[in-house]
Amino acid sequence: MKKVVKFGGSSLASAEQFRKVGQIIHADEGRRYVVPSAPGKRFPADVKVTDLLYQCYALAERDEDFSEILERIQSRYREIIDGLELPLSLDYEFSIIRDQFRAKAGKEYAASRGEFLNGIIMARYLGFEFIDAADVIIFDERGMFLEEATNERLEERLKYSEQAVIPGFYGATEDGVVKTFSRGGSDVTGSIVARAIHATMYENWTDVSGFLVADPRVVRNPQIIDTITYKELRELSYMGATVLHEDAIFPVRQEGIPINIRNTNHPEDPGTMIVKTTCKKPRFIITGIAGKKGFVCINIEKDMMNSEIGFGRKVLEAFEKSGISFEHMPSGIDTMSVIVHQDEFEANEQRVLAQIQATACPDAIDMETDLALIAVVGRGMKENRGIAARIFAALAHANINVKMIDQGSSELNIIIGVRNRKFEEAIRAIYDIFVTSQL
Ligand code: ASP
Repeated sequence: MKKVVKFGGSSLASAEQFRKVGQIIHADEGRRYVVPSAPGKRFPADVKVTDLLYQCYALAERDEDFSEILERIQSRYREIIDGLELPLSLDYEFSIIRDQFRAKAGKEYAASRGEFLNGIIMARYLGFEFIDAADVIIFDERGMFLEEATNERLEERLKYSEQAVIPGFYGATEDGVVKTFSRGGSDVTGSIVARAIHATMYENWTDVSGFLVADPRVVRNPQIIDTITYKELRELSYMGATVLHEDAIFPVRQEGIPINIRNTNHPEDPGTMIVKTTCKKPRFIITGIAGKKGFVCINIEKDMMNSEIGFGRKVLEAFEKSGISFEHMPSGIDTMSVIVHQDEFEANEQRVLAQIQATACPDAIDMETDLALIAVVGRGMKENRGIAARIFAALAHANINVKMIDQGSSELNIIIGVRNRKFEEAIRAIYDIFVTSQL
């Protein structure tokens, strides 16, 4: 068994959390490659080290005194080192960081130091080899991650390392300029390492016991999803469900390596398995519900639209020219609707409408604003009849008007449009009918 284990910021926020992590790693010999984040929050009002680093560097960039924040950052690491009783000093590393900040080494360099330093502590604590991500995760000058070059380099490098710590979140160009992924990017590093070593499993340790069926801010105590496919997860994360960085799926998906979301504070919980395919039936027919507010639906009408070749293209071109990507496009015989993000659209509204008018010559255009989209996702929907009927019955029962329906041909999801103000209520109604009533 070869596992990559990634630990999030809250799992590494203090010496106490480090000890839990140490126990988890030692409990399974397969846990040989460790990807740490920077120390996160110890309590809700705390500040993540990555945020402190950004703040600190902003001062350095303006040639202001940054010593106080840097001292605050250093004391966070000192607290961890002392709490673990490690014979380790990061004074030398901090003197380099100070010089590099003065020399304006860049915002990404600054942010990356959180993971770098935590990696050094972790490697010493575990007795594993430390591999600087700047030597093995490769970016180009514009900050684009170079997937294949990285995979080759990493595969070669890790062949000779039985147990290693590779800090998450950053890498470097061939010239050594440090680059980072977007926020939460240590998840991506974990996935890249898992692919390179052909891992049997990528364990992603965080502070929740898995992916939830619905957002806990909307549904009280939602159930945990035990197994979800990469495709279902894509649909749900696109619609706003967060736990894992959106890009973390791609490297492991190529190799079909499962991801297991686990809770550092409750290692006994099995968490959520994210897999390529499974014959396991989802517990509740639907796998998850997610959604977003703030959409506008532009309805375009024209007699005989269905027989006019190129009509749809002309309409979509108007959006494309203003750099607006569309979310959905339900259509009727003489009508088509385009759903886009309201804030993006508002900035370009008149330009888009004028172009539609000029090129497609519709009979009428009207708009519905303040819409929310809800995705009901589940591989189990394909084999079950009456899912849509149950969703709409639940919404009707809750007195919610459905503004739009869109079911992809994969039958993996049904998208429903409702008024923004009915968003939470609609999610609860769908959750209740498929989950609460089945418990
Ligand atoms: N430390 C970085 C952040 O706060 C990356 C990560 O934790 O994955 O975004």
